[in-house]
Amino acid sequence: MPYSVDAVVVGAGPNGLTAAVTLAEAGLSVEVFEAAEEVGGGARTEELTLPGFRHDPCSAVHPTGIGSPAFRRMPLAEHGLEWVHHDVPLAHPLPDGSAAVLARSVGETAMSMGPEDAGAYRRLVAPFTGRWDDLAADVLRPPLTGLPRHPALLARLGVLGVQPATLLARRFSGDRARGLFAGLAAHAITGLGTPLTSGVGLMFALAGHDVGWPIARGGSQAISDALAGHLRSLGGKIHTGRHIRSLTELPSARAYLFNTAPEGLLEIAGERLPARKAKALGGYRHGLAVFKIDYAMDGPVPWTAPEARRAGTVHVGGTLEEIDTALVRASRGLSPEAPFLITAQPTLADPTRAPEGKHVFYAYGHVPFGWTGDATDAMERQLERFAPGFRDLVLARHVTTPADIEAHNPNNIGGDIGVGSMAALHSLLRPALSPVPYTTGAPDIFLCSSATPPGPGVHGLCGHYAARTALRKAFGRKVPLSV
Ligand SMILES: Cc1cc2nc3c(=O)[nH]c(=O)nc-3n(C[C@H](O)[C@H](O)[C@H](O)COP(=O)(O)OP(=O)(O)OC[C@H]3O[C@@H](n4cnc5c(N)ncnc54)[C@H](O)[C@@H]3O)c2cc1C
Repeated sequence: MPYSVDAVVVGAGPNGLTAAVTLAEAGLSVEVFEAAEEVGGGARTEELTLPGFRHDPCSAVHPTGIGSPAFRRMPLAEHGLEWVHHDVPLAHPLPDGSAAVLARSVGETAMSMGPEDAGAYRRLVAPFTGRWDDLAADVLRPPLTGLPRHPALLARLGVLGVQPATLLARRFSGDRARGLFAGLAAHAITGLGTPLTSGVGLMFALAGHDVGWPIARGGSQAISDALAGHLRSLGGKIHTGRHIRSLTELPSARAYLFNTAPEGLLEIAGERLPARKAKALGGYRHGLAVFKIDYAMDGPVPWTAPEARRAGTVHVGGTLEEIDTALVRASRGLSPEAPFLITAQPTLADPTRAPEGKHVFYAYGHVPFGWTGDATDAMERQLERFAPGFRDLVLARHVTTPADIEAHNPNNIGGDIGVGSMAALHSLLRPALSPVPYTTGAPDIFLCSSATPPGPGVHGLCGHYAARTALRKAFGRKVPLSV
């Protein structure tokens, strides 16, 4: 039976659920339609390997989650979300067996870089530490809407952040500081000579100091379940197992918000968009892909560097030059030889995810968009380099190729987990140059996925800003765009 609601959201990822919450909070009736059988999109938890081993197939570590102004407005703890912190957020082992750490304390971080770089690191972060909320308000938002709240702070960050990481890293002389900063900047998933990669590195470092890089107890699904629980408490409805391919499959509504890639929006509602907008979205540029392995382990990873045995995340790739080479190779379409790996070891702080004494561990590396090869051996050679004996502890592995990543979530086309290139201006002006990037040219259709600012990560802010945009444009509400 056709029926009607105020607003429909397609996709129940962190951004779709946050958009729905923002609309429901405004008193609107909202229904969410999700393709998968569970909510969560890129924030889910599944038994991928052996019984009792609970893996995060996508997001595992959540600096932007705990630091999200949108999540902070919601009573997510009441719906079961508990953040868990490791002893240190991040370790970065080097080929000589030493390691730098990103610790909650700037002092411990600086000391781990050695006397040659400790002062330079302190000077780099000093103007920004303790200012996460101010930075999040100005950086994690659409760039062309309104004046910044803290212009001097933003300008100071901008002067540094606009630089390629290879340039900013010249402030450091040792491999530990340079490697640690390179690993942070590599979250931009592009070569480190690209403008704005320093901004990504700095924001991840500052989050480490100010809010931490926690995991969610029980797995990332807990974040999505808490968002869904809060939405339901506000009267919102969620339908799972509903892959939407046409607007005719949805109830009629005054606003439709798409937690999809631009391609998904075009498939479902392309004929409703002005031709120019549809053409711009059709040319959307994707980024590198990811090749991921989830492991069930007989014990903790035997890192050579003791610091890595205390960390939630370990960046595996060695020196700045090695990390840059790995990313540049992937962007040139070459197969990985010594990939840069982002690894997470949740069970060190949350033993609930594996049988007693056992562990879950994940590692992913960057490969060309849509790559069809097998990176298992290259990745495990890298792991053995920094943790000899790693392979002997593997009980089971679950390999996820770029095609598998797309099959798991239609937003991650070609294995691109950022839903769009993060290279240079594309990290800011997504999906296309527009003062209000959530609009589509059709007055009732909005994009709310990580293809919009502030981009990838589990933070719900794309959804929040898109929903506020919809409230203003489709419902005539005088609400601020800001959180
Ligand atoms: C391997 C991997 C590791 C990651 N690691 C981290 C990390 O450690 N920390 C972090 O913060 N972020 C991480 N991310 C990124 C993070 O998961 C995403 O940026 C985030 O989930 C994006 O949220 P979203 O709501 O925009 O989209 P998604 O989470 O992708 O959700 C979109 C949802 O929409 C649904 N959907 C799409 N099309 C349709 C349709 N036509 N009909 C119905 N439903 C549809 C999908 O099934 C999906 O559930 C990782 C991602 C991956 C893949």
